Amino acid sequence: MNQTYIRFPNFKRKAVTLSYDDGVRQDKRLIEIMQKNGLKGTFNINGGLFGSCYDGVEKGRMTKQEALDLYIPSGMEVAIHGYKHFSLSLVDSALAVNDIATDRKELEKTFGRIIKGMAYANGAYNDTVVDMLKQCGISYARTTVSTEKFDLPSDWLRLPATCRHRNPRLMELAKEFVETKEQSYYWANKPMLFYLWGHSFEFDDDNNWRIIEEFAEYIGGRDEIWYATNGEIFEYSTLSEKDSILVTLACLIACQSPKAFKKILRASLDKDITPIEVKELLYQSVPYVGFGRAHNFFGVVTKVFDKKGIENPLDSRSNTTPEDRHEKGREIQDRYFGADMIQMMNDSTPDDQKHFNRFLEGFCFGDFYTRDGLDDQQRELITFAYIASLGGCENQLRGHTQGNLSVGNDKEKLVSAITVIMPYIGFPRTLNALAIVNEICG
Ligand SMILES: [Zn+2]
Repeated sequence: MNQTYIRFPNFKRKAVTLSYDDGVRQDKRLIEIMQKNGLKGTFNINGGLFGSCYDGVEKGRMTKQEALDLYIPSGMEVAIHGYKHFSLSLVDSALAVNDIATDRKELEKTFGRIIKGMAYANGAYNDTVVDMLKQCGISYARTTVSTEKFDLPSDWLRLPATCRHRNPRLMELAKEFVETKEQSYYWANKPMLFYLWGHSFEFDDDNNWRIIEEFAEYIGGRDEIWYATNGEIFEYSTLSEKDSILVTLACLIACQSPKAFKKILRASLDKDITPIEVKELLYQSVPYVGFGRAHNFFGVVTKVFDKKGIENPLDSRSNTTPEDRHEKGREIQDRYFGADMIQMMNDSTPDDQKHFNRFLEGFCFGDFYTRDGLDDQQRELITFAYIASLGGCENQLRGHTQGNLSVGNDKEKLVSAITVIMPYIGFPRTLNALAIVNEICG
């Protein structure tokens, strides 16, 4: 119960991944070293440059057949790197979109699998390029930024690495990563990722294959580490720390676990979430779990706030008045679920039941969704967590899965949310929620 941050498979806390570019012949030797030590990674390839010369014969790119024989059979992931390796932020946007989309199409055809990853050629990107990636169905993209840290990325489309293998601190960082022990304080046990990147021809250029051998031998083959491709880690990590905490707290309210709620709240307050967010999370629970279930948690929150010296009550975050709460609630219903759908629901409700719709509009949406303190995506995500954790509310879970998509939360985020709450809600409710996400998101 102490460890509530998202964990990698088998509840491992640490993961290692590699990311190597350009699809050159030296990838073969690199992959042999990786396999010997159990490492995995992602190889970023230019579908329009197979077999071409790369700054001299020695650095030639693999042919299509060589690439096909090497990457997938060895358990590695293939990702795009631009069809012609353009610096996407520097070329005309039509050319940039084409470089992304054509590479994806070419690699999917060649390797027979869905490609969702990318590394920016020459590290070149800007906000427009990131938007293009989204349009082209790319979910994660590596930059050439090194952090020398082990945090999980908060923005997967501007993915930084821990370091390049040319970094003189490589082994020092590897040691720091391996030697970090579990702390008794829950908040100190965040998941850790060592993300290494480079080009395998550099080992020939610098005549130093021994540095990657040394790295792989040291960091590889450890029980406590998950070795994975970029894509595998992405699948597990699409929730930010804050979202993970919000979803967990929401789940514990719905499951009626005040003790676990208190423990996690005390550990995360002021580090990962703010008092305002906690208050809003609690308020948002009321229309979904009902006053009956929410009631106890107001007391728990007040106690934790008092103990931490947080002044209560906090500023009001309400944005409606008794006069406009229905109108504003309806605006949100229309935006999330579609005006036609809401109109149809209201029209088809018998007169003696219309008061339920009025309550839904004014109370649930007018009084709560209009508040500040959590953004639309957070509000919909925790609502999903409330309903999934309650169980038996599958119809409403369908509606709010759609609601999540409307506010920009994608399928991966919902699957991650279910992964986070799984230990608390058990398998039947987990599998029901997953089935609904698959049904709605495809
Ligand atoms: Zn490149």
